[in-house]
Amino acid sequence: MSENQNFDLIVIGAGSGGVRLARMSAQRGARVAIVESRYLGGTCVNVGCVPKKLFVYGAHVSEELEDAGGYGWHVPREQVGFDWPTLVANKNAEIERLNGVYRRLLDNAGVRVIEGSARLADANTVVVGDDRYQTRHITIATGSWPVVPELPGQECILTSNEMFYLPQLPRQAVVWGGGYIAVEFAGILAGLGVETTLLYRGEMFLRGFDDDVRRFTAEELTKKGIQLRFGVTIESVQPEGGHYNLSLSDGSRLTTGLVMAATGRRALTEGLGLTDVGVELTPSGHIRVDEHFQTNVPGITALGDVVGTPQLTPVAIAQAMVLSRRLFGDGQGEMDYNHIPTAVFCQPNIGTVGLTEAEARAAGHQVRVYRSEFKPMKYTLTGRQERCLMKLVVDGDSDRVLGAHMVGPDAGEIIQGLAVAIKAGATKAEFDATIGIHPTSAEEFVTMREPVADA
Ligand code: NDP
Repeated sequence: MSENQNFDLIVIGAGSGGVRLARMSAQRGARVAIVESRYLGGTCVNVGCVPKKLFVYGAHVSEELEDAGGYGWHVPREQVGFDWPTLVANKNAEIERLNGVYRRLLDNAGVRVIEGSARLADANTVVVGDDRYQTRHITIATGSWPVVPELPGQECILTSNEMFYLPQLPRQAVVWGGGYIAVEFAGILAGLGVETTLLYRGEMFLRGFDDDVRRFTAEELTKKGIQLRFGVTIESVQPEGGHYNLSLSDGSRLTTGLVMAATGRRALTEGLGLTDVGVELTPSGHIRVDEHFQTNVPGITALGDVVGTPQLTPVAIAQAMVLSRRLFGDGQGEMDYNHIPTAVFCQPNIGTVGLTEAEARAAGHQVRVYRSEFKPMKYTLTGRQERCLMKLVVDGDSDRVLGAHMVGPDAGEIIQGLAVAIKAGATKAEFDATIGIHPTSAEEFVTMREPVADA
């Protein structure tokens, strides 16, 4: 075996976590290869966070144009036009640029990029096509893939993967699911002028988020013209002409131009030969790892979406930093899953960090709740009815802020800063002692004085 087929680490999957692990490990002096069968940057760069956010920006322009009149700008409706292929082409060009950035980052770090599908022959051998590579360590970072529930007509249903490359926008669309992706895509489609219906099987979407956030988001999305139908699911889809007829669980029918499922994502493990080498999976199909990303097979580790921890790019990146340090650094480092801030880029955005009110109560805290709902200043001249929600969940005994939740413009940007304070253990008194920045929405987080009476 030649020298260039012998490595210290082979990473399988060049997504956010895999690329970070490969680069960090190479910078620590390890001989590293990364194997990728699709695109550099993984879901986040290609069919996830990045193109999604670009589409969200694109969708929001329609509101900026509507609001312009209130500030004295004349934007005659008949002169406003939107061209979907332009947005997709510009997005594609940006993704290609980012693919190139990832390629250069890996090259500059001295990581060998191997294109193809990897299979494990044993705990030290990776096979790609006709080539066999030897390595001391293997890390699986293959990520996840959208799941479409089985039902008649399933093949007519798109996922987020295809939505990023739609040749044209339909006049009407149905989004199926009630999590991050469903809510974000419903906002994108509606913002771009598509009549959008969101179908969710439960009583209220965004399970796991604070109940006030869920209720408030439902109200705001409804104001934007998104039809929210809860307690209902799709039983079958039948194509007819250029559209689709849906049979729903409540006995009703719906006709639409596009059906998108955002009903969760499964771990991508097939074809890797995991069972041949004895790597155990969990009942949900994720690779089973301990707190240091070690599978049950010595020498094989795994991280990111494929291990079933929160499916978030910054989590995978943080895991990669810990694992690289453990494999090729001082052998130390732990992953901390507490206080992971997150945002849902619907319109308005949701930003959240820490415990929801229900979680805090269930954990036995004496909870004090601070809540504020108001119209953002930006909309005072425009007539827009959008409102903003801010909420703090505080431990009554220690005064520590346990959670911060927001629905409103730039919630993700605002909550990121608060996450530092909450991670550092800030008390409500310290929030109160912080001077606000006036006039902003964010200052409301340091000026909420009276707890909610009914909490
Ligand atoms: P989620 O797991 O967040 O949501 C899946 C939704 O689909 C839930 O509402 C679930 O309902 C529903 N569902 C699941 N199975 C079925 C079924 N068989 N029939 C009907 N409905 C079903 O998955 P997403 O696909 O939205 O996103 C995957 C992950 O990607 C997220 O959890 C998140 O970690 C990550 N992500 C993060 C983003 C961000 O940070 N902004 C953006 C996009 C994705 P129920 O609640 O009843 O289980």
